[in-house]
Amino acid sequence: MADALSEATLAALDDPFAQLGGPLAGTTRLAFEVVDSARFTPHMQRLRLTAPELDGFRYLPGQDVMLLVAAEGNRPVRRRYTIRGLDPAARLLTLDIVLHGDGPGERWVRAARPGDRIEGIGPRGKITTSATADWHLFMGDESALAATFAMAEALPAGSLATLILEIPEEDDEQDLSSAAATRISWLHRLGAPAGDPEALAAEAAEVELPAGRGHAYLFGEAKVVLRLREILAGRGLGEDQMSPKAYWGRGRANASHGEPAKDG
Ligand SMILES: Cc1cc2nc3c(=O)[nH]c(=O)nc-3n(C[C@H](O)[C@H](O)[C@H](O)COP(=O)(O)OP(=O)(O)OC[C@H]3O[C@@H](n4cnc5c(N)ncnc54)[C@H](O)[C@@H]3O)c2cc1C
Repeated sequence: MADALSEATLAALDDPFAQLGGPLAGTTRLAFEVVDSARFTPHMQRLRLTAPELDGFRYLPGQDVMLLVAAEGNRPVRRRYTIRGLDPAARLLTLDIVLHGDGPGERWVRAARPGDRIEGIGPRGKITTSATADWHLFMGDESALAATFAMAEALPAGSLATLILEIPEEDDEQDLSSAAATRISWLHRLGAPAGDPEALAAEAAEVELPAGRGHAYLFGEAKVVLRLREILAGRGLGEDQMSPKAYWGRGRANASHGEPAKDG
């Protein structure tokens, strides 16, 4: 058993999130313990975590938790992962985390064993499914799978959703179970590096946009998300019809608060 941070490291942290105020108002600090961790698809690890604070915990589909995965000196390093599911009765929260290569988040995920403890803060994030859209379009890479599937599964019967997801290979495809009418296009990278906008951009330029008012959810690499947003804006989607969120930046570690570092 190896906790993410030792008691001594935790006690010495200079933590900007020691108080959950400002943008973290309404979140809860969660004393997570790993229940199990297993390879779900070749590039995806599924972790189930428990915490006493999950009793009565509420979240919206698409929201995430921020995990305290490491420390650099006395500075905490956090990473954000979308809540794939929650079983409130069993106090079990599921995360689907991409194995992309290396980073403090990845190292923690690979080492996590049942009984390991890690601090979480959540729920975080403002993006959830639009209640008024006539149709929904989800686009992203494998880091967006948890958010996309959690949101698509929450859509009521009668809604219409198109999912376009870029993944490493066919074996990384997952089964979706939703009351909505859904159509999924899987784009296989087949050895090409993640974070190249071309495949998703081509789909954004050509995907059929049904009649009525739609909403697009764009998650993944920062520049890819920007490009998709530009293309869909060019096809007539207003800013209020798009929910873009940069999850990671190509060739660059996320900042210690878990989002891609800003340029400059
Ligand atoms: C709101 C939010 C929700 C998110 N939900 C999820 C989720 O449910 N599941 C999930 O897997 N990720 C999710 N992410 C993305 C995840 O937090 C980032 O991928 C993060 O960079 C991983 O941290 P790390 O320490 O492993 O790598 P970092 O230290 O941040 O990066 C190290 C290196 O790895 C590269 N890298 C990072 N992520 C990827 C990737 N996905 N593919 C290829 N290269 C990468 C970077 O470019 C860098 O070169 C979410 C991010 C946000 C902001």
